[in-house]
Amino acid sequence: MKTQASRSDEAIALVEKHAAHNYHPLPVVAAHAQGAWVTDVEGRRYLDCLAAYSALNFGHRHPEIVAAVQAQLDRLTLTSRAFHHDVLGPFVRDLAALAGKDLVLPMNTGAEAVETGLKVARKWGYEVKGVPADRATVIVADGNFHGRTISVVSFSTDPTARTNFGPFTPGFRVVPYGDSSAIADAIDDTTVAVLIEPIQGEAGVIVPPAGYLSKVRQLCDAREVLFVADEIQSGLGRTGTTFACEHENVVPDLYLLGKALGGGIVPVSAVVGNSDVLGVIRPGEHGSTFGGNALACAAGHAVVGMLERGTWQRTAAQLGEHLHTRLRELMGQGVVEIRGRGLWAGVDIDPALMTGREACEALLAEGILVKDTHGSTIRFAPPLVVTPDEIDLAVDALRRVLIQRAA
Ligand SMILES: *Cc1c(COP(=O)(O)O)cnc(C)c1O
Repeated sequence: MKTQASRSDEAIALVEKHAAHNYHPLPVVAAHAQGAWVTDVEGRRYLDCLAAYSALNFGHRHPEIVAAVQAQLDRLTLTSRAFHHDVLGPFVRDLAALAGKDLVLPMNTGAEAVETGLKVARKWGYEVKGVPADRATVIVADGNFHGRTISVVSFSTDPTARTNFGPFTPGFRVVPYGDSSAIADAIDDTTVAVLIEPIQGEAGVIVPPAGYLSKVRQLCDAREVLFVADEIQSGLGRTGTTFACEHENVVPDLYLLGKALGGGIVPVSAVVGNSDVLGVIRPGEHGSTFGGNALACAAGHAVVGMLERGTWQRTAAQLGEHLHTRLRELMGQGVVEIRGRGLWAGVDIDPALMTGREACEALLAEGILVKDTHGSTIRFAPPLVVTPDEIDLAVDALRRVLIQRAA
């Protein structure tokens, strides 16, 4: 008979042998999950403090989303956009209303939403702004993360994401994040869009200086440039508001959404904007076989319905207050910096103590799932169904890990 402990090892060995090595996962093999808790193949329980990089904002298998998806599975899953189906309309109507816009272009993954936003911005630039053919430029920020396609890594500043993937797509200008005067200087007659994350997630939960987003909005208005906000990780409740741009009362021209929009069940992404911008796309010019499929729309519609109530956003703000208060107690005890907003925190561990990876491995042994980003930064982004007591569990575990290391 197989020992219990061998089940994880076997599962991991199989992945190492046959799955391409494009990730370096922590050594835990999930078998079941509910809410904020994950159970591994050996029956050990873990508190999920990553929430699939915010794709699980509503927790694992939220009953309302599962019910909507299950009902849809029994009825209709896919038509392609060659035909209409009866779930797309309600989904795009309600998502547009949630964002205060009038059009939605549904896609699947986040990277596709970014690609779509770039195509829309370029086309708008040529047809509305009057940029000379093939000259359009988009301003982006250093430290950005917008996905993994060739065009998207073309303007990444992370060598790991770019090395040996060239030649790259031209038409991007990189400026320092958080510096609006750098954007002002970079804008010229070819500029069609500024594409930024209102809070940079992968970079380590970097919150820009107060006033940055509203300054970017003003510059875009003054110079006839689209403000494209990548809210794929920051949006849909995580920061205490539906969109992170709301913290500065800023409304971008295009929202890029993904991750939590699929309710943690299926990939659903979207570009949301007004018809004067998104309306430049006409039949045949852009699309996706699975974009806007019935199953995805059922999941997305359930998510939008939940966010319409406003309670998730308030909960994220309250829980975030608790998380940040508790984390701040660790300042000077092995933690050197904490950033974030709402239920989202980037925690820099003193690099003399350990790497982010080592901290995550030690937290795994304590029953806490988190992931490092760069160097000694770990990111806390538990699902919004977490309780204050569970947040305490995570922070206490981090305290123990830091104390053990310091000893
Ligand atoms: C995750 C992420 C993406 C890419 O989404 P995928 O679904 O992985 O393609 C794009 N932008 C941001 C800000 C993200 O966090």
